[in-house]
Amino acid sequence: MPTLLFDPEHFLIRWQGAPLGEERRAFIEALAMMGYRKSNASDQSKKILERIQSKREIKLFVSVTCPYCPQQVVNALKAAIDKPDLISLDIIDVQVNPEMADKYAAHGVPMTFANGTLIAQGAQTEELFMLSLERMEQQTFFIPESNADEVAADLVIVGGKTLVDILVTHALQYVKIFPGEEVFNIQCKDIFVIQTTRRRFKAKAILLATGAAYKRLGIPGEVRLSGRGVSYCSTCDGPLFKGKPEVGLAKKIGVELTLEGYIKHDLFHRTNIPGIYSAGDVEGGYKQIVTAAGQGSEAALAIFEDLINPYWKQKTA
Ligand SMILES: Cc1cc2nc3c(=O)[nH]c(=O)nc-3n(C[C@H](O)[C@H](O)[C@H](O)COP(=O)(O)OP(=O)(O)OC[C@H]3O[C@@H](n4cnc5c(N)ncnc54)[C@H](O)[C@@H]3O)c2cc1C
Repeated sequence: MPTLLFDPEHFLIRWQGAPLGEERRAFIEALAMMGYRKSNASDQSKKILERIQSKREIKLFVSVTCPYCPQQVVNALKAAIDKPDLISLDIIDVQVNPEMADKYAAHGVPMTFANGTLIAQGAQTEELFMLSLERMEQQTFFIPESNADEVAADLVIVGGKTLVDILVTHALQYVKIFPGEEVFNIQCKDIFVIQTTRRRFKAKAILLATGAAYKRLGIPGEVRLSGRGVSYCSTCDGPLFKGKPEVGLAKKIGVELTLEGYIKHDLFHRTNIPGIYSAGDVEGGYKQIVTAAGQGSEAALAIFEDLINPYWKQKTA
């Protein structure tokens, strides 16, 4: 079978098949990258690649008639060019090497394997490809990392974990998400200064969506068997959630609570502190994903209106 090796003294990149049809685009990109020995991967992709510390043998199944394959080929080329010591790449045309395609059950293209494990079906964005390669399983959304020490925003949402993959992807088109940072203090001045474990945010409004935590029984094996027979559900196990909203932060900054210990709010999800709102389980009542999302949406609309037309300024005028 026709096989191309690309600059074998520097890279472990092999193309099994002839780069014809749709594959011509990827082939031209490959030549350009080889020429410069540089991939032009994005900064975010490079950061992910830096974290990969063990070998990855990529097998990427393609076909000359597939319009999505070139994108995935270019992603894989970038990885193999930027990290030639650890990353090798085999681009395999399924029509030229059907035995290999059968062995991997690669009956749809593009299909990407690393070290024999399926890490992606279909074409991905560059960063998602790198993340899938790092984590060795298909990733469906990518949250860019940020090194900024200070971020200015109209609104900061604290919590809000219910956003599922597709919502995260959609939200990322409009906002930045900073995962894994705990908010441990908020200063209420003309503008809110929100201190997290990694940086400071300055915002005009805050939405507290810090949720509720279930009570553990504290019996042997509970943690180990959680999700394997032991489960918690706020609706079926309502009593276990009673009095367990995450209100430590709210209390610290002077947000009023109800007698049950939830955040006190009005119909617009405004708390007693102008500019601070609440939504989700932390408000009490029904605790379901759809109700939390609905409250978040109502609060977002109220915040939008209030930032344009601050009710607290009208009151004092
Ligand atoms: C085991 C289980 C099963 C469930 N099953 C269902 C179901 O099948 N269907 C359904 O509709 N609902 C279900 N629920 C309920 C549903 O998950 C909740 O109602 C919903 O997630 C509430 O959303 P939320 O955004 O208010 O809070 P959460 O989803 O709890 O998110 C709150 C987030 O805020 C973060 N946070 C808290 N404090 C801080 C801080 N200071 N700084 C930064 N972040 C902070 C927390 O870490 C958390 O990530 C279930 C709940 C549990 C526990």
